[in-house]
Order: sequence, then C-alpha cells, then structure tokens
Amino acid sequence: MNVPDIIIAVDGFSATGKSTFAKMVAKEFGFLYLDSGAMYRGVTLFSMENGMIAEDGTIDETALKTVIEDLDLHFRNDDGKTCLYLGERCIETEIRTLAVSSHVSPVSAVPFVRNYVDKRLRAFSEGGRVIMDGRDIGTTVFPNAELKVFMVADAEVRAQRRYDEMVEKGDTPVFEDIVKNLAERDYIDSHRETSPLRQPEDYVMDNTHMTLHEELVWCLGVIQGKFGILEAPALSW
Ligand code: C5P
Repeated sequence: MNVPDIIIAVDGFSATGKSTFAKMVAKEFGFLYLDSGAMYRGVTLFSMENGMIAEDGTIDETALKTVIEDLDLHFRNDDGKTCLYLGERCIETEIRTLAVSSHVSPVSAVPFVRNYVDKRLRAFSEGGRVIMDGRDIGTTVFPNAELKVFMVADAEVRAQRRYDEMVEKGDTPVFEDIVKNLAERDYIDSHRETSPLRQPEDYVMDNTHMTLHEELVWCLGVIQGKFGILEAPALSW
C-alpha cells in the first residue's frame, strides 16, 4: 500500500506503547521514526551529569539556559536502530534509567528546554515521511500533522510493560517505583503550563488488550479511511 509522504504524530501518557507502535509503523511504511522523549531525556542526562540538578530535584535553570543552544543532541542510525547521541557519545542506554525518568518531567516543563527540543525536532523532520512520538507532537510540534494518534492503556498494564522491558534489559526495577514514576510523570506532563499533554481531536487507540499486529491493522484501516486508499493492504507480518 502506498502511503503518502505525511507526518504522523503519536501522543499519549507514559508507557502506553507509543514508541513500539511508531517504530513498527515506520518499518512497515518506510518512514523515519523520531522519539521526542529521548531528546528530553538527553537534556536531563546532560543536566544531571553537569551538576545542574540538585539532590532535591531543583534545576539550575540559569546554568542550563547558557549552554542549551550549544547542546549537540542528534539521532544516528546504528545498524538499523535509531540512537540518541550527545556529540560523539551514544547515550541511548543512559537516558532510559529510572534516575533520568525521575527528573525528566520537571526538566521538560521548562519553556526554553521545550523551545530547544521543538526546533531540533522540526529540523530533523524536514521533508516529511516521519512518525514521531511524544506528548505534544500533534498539538504543538506539528499541529498540521496529517495524522494524529493518541494512545491510552490501563495504568497497571502500562507499568507491567515498562517493568518487563527493564527486566529484559538486565535491570532490577521495583514494580511500585515504576507505578509511582508513571503517575508522577503523567501528572506533571498534563498539568505544566507550556504545551501540556492534551488529546488532539483525531484518533484514540486504547491498546490495553491489543496485540502489535492488531495495532498495525488498526493503523492501516485509519490510513486507508483518511486518505481514501482502496488498495488492499499487504502486511509484512
Ligand atoms: O516518551 P518518554 O517517556 O521517553 O518521555 C520522557 C518524558 O519526556 C515524558 O515523561 C515527558 O515529561 C517528556 N516529554 C515531553 N514532550 C514530548 C515527549 C516527552 O514533555 N513531546
């Protein structure tokens, strides 16, 4: 099926499976996948490593503001996988720790941080044919995205998925810590002043009980309906 060169925005609460869905769609249709949360995590890791976040979580905004525009955060394709780099250093593993997760929402609520990330995301997406996931892609980064998907799933299921993901990577997380972290981030992300998480008007997918294949079939149906494509979809799996 020939999908046009559109921008697909995928938003939703933490751990609703946005990146898994977006990566799968990108692979199926030959789109570029961009993980906007990784950029916020990258800014957070940099701030932590450079003493800009105190033990009580206070952010030294003055110090961060003086360096943020020079931060060289970018994505590279490493053997078919999109990885976040800070200069020449791959930081894909470091940005996924619970320590970074526990500071990322306050950092991403800072307006000049959002401004920096938005500018870079738009520059990376020039030319279209991009699927990007985050919290404000369809509302702020690409309000004119041709397709906007908002993902939701039950809180318990989300925490279990994140737990399994971390265990698979060799971590030893405490389930309750994950539940707490997801709830805190959902709250901060949807209550901040700048670009809070909001459901855009388009399509909502509740994937609590869906398999990945069902998600892909759902997406194909939406694309066919929205763009009037009559051709029968041939899925790779
Ligand atoms: O998607 P992920 O969970 O990796 O995002 C980490 C955090 O980055 C979110 O909890 C949120 O605070 C922030 N974020 C954001 N806007 C985006 C993407 C992520 O504020 N577009």
